[in-house]
Amino acid sequence: MLGGYMGKILRVNLTTGKISEEPLNEEIARKFIGARGYGVKIIFDEVPHNADPLGSGNKLIFATGPLTLTTAPTGGRYDVVTKSPLNGVIAGSNSGGFFAPELKKAGYDMLIVEGKSEKPVYLWITDEKVEIKDASHLWGKDTHETTDTILSELGDKNIKVACIGPAGENLVKFACVINDKARAAGRTGVGAVMGSKMLKAVAAKGTKRAPIANPEKFKEALRVAMDKIKTNGVTSQGLPTYGTMVLNHIIDEHGLYPAYNFQKGTYEDVDKVSGEKLKETYLVRNKACFGCPIGCGRVSKVPGIEEEIEGPEYETSWSLSADVGVNDLVAVIKSHYLCNKMGLDPISLGSTIAAAMELYEKGILKKDEVGDAPELKFGNAETILVYPELVAKRIGLGDKLAEGSYNFASSYGHPELSMSVKKQEIPAYDPRGAQGHALEYATSNRGACHVRGYMISPEILGIPEKLDPFVVEGKGKWVKTFQDLTAVIDSAGLCLFTSFALNAEDYTNLLAAVTGFDYTVDEVMTAGDRIWNLEKLWNLKIGLTKKDDYLPPRFLNEPLPDGAAKGQIVHIEQLLSDYYNVRGWSKEGVPTEEKLKDLGL
Ligand code: SF4
Repeated sequence: MLGGYMGKILRVNLTTGKISEEPLNEEIARKFIGARGYGVKIIFDEVPHNADPLGSGNKLIFATGPLTLTTAPTGGRYDVVTKSPLNGVIAGSNSGGFFAPELKKAGYDMLIVEGKSEKPVYLWITDEKVEIKDASHLWGKDTHETTDTILSELGDKNIKVACIGPAGENLVKFACVINDKARAAGRTGVGAVMGSKMLKAVAAKGTKRAPIANPEKFKEALRVAMDKIKTNGVTSQGLPTYGTMVLNHIIDEHGLYPAYNFQKGTYEDVDKVSGEKLKETYLVRNKACFGCPIGCGRVSKVPGIEEEIEGPEYETSWSLSADVGVNDLVAVIKSHYLCNKMGLDPISLGSTIAAAMELYEKGILKKDEVGDAPELKFGNAETILVYPELVAKRIGLGDKLAEGSYNFASSYGHPELSMSVKKQEIPAYDPRGAQGHALEYATSNRGACHVRGYMISPEILGIPEKLDPFVVEGKGKWVKTFQDLTAVIDSAGLCLFTSFALNAEDYTNLLAAVTGFDYTVDEVMTAGDRIWNLEKLWNLKIGLTKKDDYLPPRFLNEPLPDGAAKGQIVHIEQLLSDYYNVRGWSKEGVPTEEKLKDLGL
């Protein structure tokens, strides 16, 4: 018996209104696991590579994994997979909270949305009953109002909602999908694809469960995994105590905490926007996603906002702070909240504002272009409070910023001032301070990303072993392993943070027990490799080449000016050559025929 999966895929065509079901393909499930992996396979097979990401030919997938809705630690996740409007890659954006388990309980492993509606709609899915409902009254509302209105009109507070805010409606290139009001499928602009289909929300609730193929084995795998999570320092202490903001000081001390659009590697006011500061000021309590024993989520309360606010996170407490030079924690928390309500990716928003600030500082972006909006000066807290709405609604300069930092900086003839890879903004670690992490950014199939192969773990935190962050040799193998394992974790339906405590064997044991596939560690890691290579093949089809596996020139030519990594640059050619070799790709970064044959691609 196959366990872990509901065994059904739901397809909704918004052009024709056709709703259909199809069986999950067992062979694909085994080879691509689920969630991100299965979603990538569908996009690769069904969406023409040259399709307009915002046209009716693109598809939008909400995909759970076989461990979603189980008692596996953090088993509440899903991936939104589509062709990205930001850069054309296969976007896969992962989110926690409580939405994914309800989608699965409603009877489906995944939902594939096709076509384009003529008017705003939302989907209501419950125990295999599916309705396309009018959402005209929701269009223009933020994600909180949208969620509350749907819960009220469907008359059940326990329904879970994933939706877009004004940013998705207005096709902002870094709009996200927000579920449970505060959890985001945040990167690569998946919210804009949802907006292009006039799909405001998906609401789900159900009563079903997938079977566990081997309950005894699953119990044992679960016991081992839980023991490790409860005794690991990061998952049992660091993350529960300070949330992801446990990192602000650590990363700053290692000299890779980017400030002022990556012009510096430390931030003089990190004390004012750290996890420790949050804990002694505005933190109300911790919050955990479905089935999570870690509980890295924060709930805060700040003056000027009635309700309690979820957040901030490490990334937002950097992108809306050090990167733009704002040391006001209250403003950062409010801005994080506004991003959630507008449905914006705060990493890309902060980094795009930071690029605009550097353009302004250099006299390239002129004051008259900014108009009445807050002056784009580093340190101006008003910017992070006002621009979320201006960008989400494309008002004034917000319209240009809504295209992302690469397009924005390029429009002034200075693409080099966008700190991005494949047009996606680089997260909160300066690549010059960790060579492996730099390689991860450069080669990440979806554009710069810290959660596609978190090399900070070995290079800075010493997990599973300490690597010298400045050493280049041998990093290719580490990056490949981290990227492949992350593809497995995403596809299983678990949170990446479990990987501080668990290893490939733990994930294999959980997956084998729940599905009934007689997986070995090798087979599971090969599935990760396969997913990675399929994403890469797509990138080649859309015309990306080795030159897109690069970092902005700042990181290659300008040594870090301060901090513990002072003097470092990224040795990109050496890193890429090692990595391509380890991946079994040509010198130009193209998978060889032999490699593809090995992977069955
Ligand atoms: S570790 Fe944090 S993000 Fe991951 S599932 Fe738990 S609460 Fe959610």
